[in-house]
Amino acid sequence: MAKYVYLFHEGGAEMRSLLGGKGANLAEMTKIGLPVPPGMTISTEACREYYESGQQLPDGLAEEIKRNLVTLEKNVGKELGNVDNPLLISVRSGAVFSMPGMMDTILNLGLNEQTVKSMARLTGNLCFAYDSYRRFIQMFSDVVLEIPKHDFEHILSKEKERQGVTYDQELSADALRSLIDQFKSLVKERLGRPFPEDPMEQLFMAVEAVFRSWNNDRAIIYRNLNKIDHNLGTAVNIQSMVFGNMGDDSGTGVAFTRNPSTGENVLYGEYLTNAQGEDVVAGIRTPRPIAKLAEEMPAVYQQFSTIARTLEKHYKNLQDIEFTVEKGKLYMLQTRNGKRTAQAGIRIAHDLAMEGLISKNDALLLIEAAQLDHLLHRQIDSEAKLTVLAKGLPASPGAASGQVVFDSDEAERLGKSGQKVLLVRTETTPDDIHGIVAAQGILTSRGGMTSHAAVVARGMGKPCVCGCEAIKIDYAKQEFSVDGTVVKAGDLVSIDGAAGRVILGNVPMKDPVLSKEYLTLLSWADDVRRLQVRANADTPEDALKAREFGAAGVGLCRTEHMFMGQERLPHVQQMILAETTEERLEALQALLPMQESDFYGILKAMAGYPVCIRLLDPPLHEFLPSLEELLVETATLRATGQEPERLRSRELLLRKVRALHEFNPMLGHRGCRLGISFPEIYEMQIQAICNAAARLSKEGVQVLPEIEVPLTIDKSEMVFFKEKIDRIAQETMQQYGVTFHYTSGTMIELPRAALLADELAEVSDFFSFGTNDLTQTTLGFSRDDAEGKFLSDYLNLKILKDNPFITLDRRGVGQLMQIAVEKGRRVRPDLLIGICGEHGGEANSVQFCHEIGLDFVSCSPYRVPIARLAAAQAAISTGESYGTR
Ligand code: PEP
Ligand code: MG
Repeated sequence: MAKYVYLFHEGGAEMRSLLGGKGANLAEMTKIGLPVPPGMTISTEACREYYESGQQLPDGLAEEIKRNLVTLEKNVGKELGNVDNPLLISVRSGAVFSMPGMMDTILNLGLNEQTVKSMARLTGNLCFAYDSYRRFIQMFSDVVLEIPKHDFEHILSKEKERQGVTYDQELSADALRSLIDQFKSLVKERLGRPFPEDPMEQLFMAVEAVFRSWNNDRAIIYRNLNKIDHNLGTAVNIQSMVFGNMGDDSGTGVAFTRNPSTGENVLYGEYLTNAQGEDVVAGIRTPRPIAKLAEEMPAVYQQFSTIARTLEKHYKNLQDIEFTVEKGKLYMLQTRNGKRTAQAGIRIAHDLAMEGLISKNDALLLIEAAQLDHLLHRQIDSEAKLTVLAKGLPASPGAASGQVVFDSDEAERLGKSGQKVLLVRTETTPDDIHGIVAAQGILTSRGGMTSHAAVVARGMGKPCVCGCEAIKIDYAKQEFSVDGTVVKAGDLVSIDGAAGRVILGNVPMKDPVLSKEYLTLLSWADDVRRLQVRANADTPEDALKAREFGAAGVGLCRTEHMFMGQERLPHVQQMILAETTEERLEALQALLPMQESDFYGILKAMAGYPVCIRLLDPPLHEFLPSLEELLVETATLRATGQEPERLRSRELLLRKVRALHEFNPMLGHRGCRLGISFPEIYEMQIQAICNAAARLSKEGVQVLPEIEVPLTIDKSEMVFFKEKIDRIAQETMQQYGVTFHYTSGTMIELPRAALLADELAEVSDFFSFGTNDLTQTTLGFSRDDAEGKFLSDYLNLKILKDNPFITLDRRGVGQLMQIAVEKGRRVRPDLLIGICGEHGGEANSVQFCHEIGLDFVSCSPYRVPIARLAAAQAAISTGESYGTR
């Protein structure tokens, strides 16, 4: 007989995949003796079977729940539906990976017309009993009966208006009773049957509804966004209720063991007196900071902070804790590893290691490499003069500007059309997820640091200001006002998520300064990683930036970027249009000194480090005006009859552009095929590199140029170019009377090159995987078209799991890489091998590069820190790290 239900004391943190995160942690907290209200967890396996059997509860589950409920009832000394002593329970979802607010929760289950009276009698508090009941009807109707929430909210607001009160807790017992009746009538009217009275029926309906909520729209969007497997299913936690809404000696709160925004080691969170859990998270009332609890309930605060420390020590990580105080007694309702900003993540990992709670390697594993990107977020220039409209809570750092939008659909629409928007809402709900994704930043008028908007924005690294009550939003008029200033939809507003400021108009921003903890952690990463990290840099400025970020060399210098610009383009065009070799040589002679000075600058900036310079790669027509442009211009010139000279030259150009036109330029006359057809172009570039290297060597600067041939398919191509490289290098050294070290090698960008890597290795000192081209040619997906056209269909339908242009396709492209590494090294054991496609700065791909034994990864300068950390994580997780442990 399968076991689907586990009482809390039967589980533990290690059973996460079966019990979900929440269930496993409730069990763990029970195990270590913390005050957790008793309960049970229905496993994720039961949910999976529910879906596999066409949405039927698995056989035996109902009996198992009932059996365990009896144990639970004995344990608590109350019974579900018992009029003398009723047990009330919560029914909550709990997935394996945290999906905050994405699925459903039902509180106060077990209430009906009988038990509500018992509750009133037992607590001596009629208001409390009625308030709990009306909340239950509201939640149950929304989640289980699928009657829209706002229909109930509407009745509630009307009632508050009628009673002349602002807050829910100001409603009298009579008003609450009337609300219950109105809610029930609404249910009856919509469903044609009354609200269920039988607690056992309520329970089974609720369990099934939680299973169903696994596949609600927002949960699916969230899983797609966070790459969570759709087949995992959710667990269901059934727990005896404790009440934070029993008066002023009760309350409920959410707290982090450290500040999740900055990482500072102080208890951080907020609570509400006389409230139930969802009031804090939903952001309906703006809660008080946790430090105030020390004044209001000192003993509870003391106990809570001790438990918080215990949990942090136990889990060796920042904890995000939910708690409730019922009549002065503290209960723990949840703990989980807390989401944090990148900045806080760094500081927390660093501090936990320095406090001796974890090792340095564990500290490195605690940081999500991709998050380092957020650290490089721009901030508002502190010198700037700002019109600060209002201040709210600093919910997620970074600065953002955009036009104000009040609606998530609209935010998504404008965002997709490339506009920058700022999403402004009273509060956000999980239904706003698409708007948040599309927005540059989020501003809410209500809700605290743990409200939905704050949590989601922090996770995404988006700036967010919450609880900015000074702004009054009028959705109907599509505007908000602050002290008489009216801001309309479409107006430009900026937010400063680190300081909580709301600013009128655009603001000047500046690059961030990196913390000392960040530098320390990256130095720990450097101690343990095996992969070298280089940067892709095309200019001396980029090379210097790359050095600043810790790159140990240039892995790819794309020389074509040097051919652009007003000064150079005419010579490049002359070179392309040349009818004879002499004419071409003349144009190349003009370009030579310019190229030489480029290489001189880059090699100097990277003194002592290797610089891999790629010979010209793109098709030549990229340097000429577009066909369409020329057609329009020649037609106009012809029509007007003016400027006959210009018409002639434009017609000449048009003929050349037509001649160079290719149906498939990515597979056309590009890469080293250019060097085969026009060897003088490559010779000029090789000469420029050698001249720069010779001059710098003479000046005593150590240079390590690596001359790279792109898009090869065959050893004979390399033989052809290597002869030129070696000859020119020798001649230049003789001419300058110096020697310098240089090497020559090839990019591996085409499947044939990977398959014949052993032959290529005979004539190459190094390989560098150009995985942008290797991906496009292995999958046959045009890199310019796939993403905009059909790739999203492949991802939505899960034909491909990841975008192969972002995350390396290990099975296909990766296999070719493995073949190339193995064949290449067989012929030349000391062959230097790296990667310089976009994947070189993506954590998962870096891990793969480590696993297959590459020597280096190369990526854009801003992603160098990510690659350094990812390389360290790869070394640690494969057990190959060395140095500091
Ligand atoms: C590549 O193909 O991966 C590469 C680095 O070259 P490019 O992107 O310039 O084609
Ligand atoms: Mg390429």
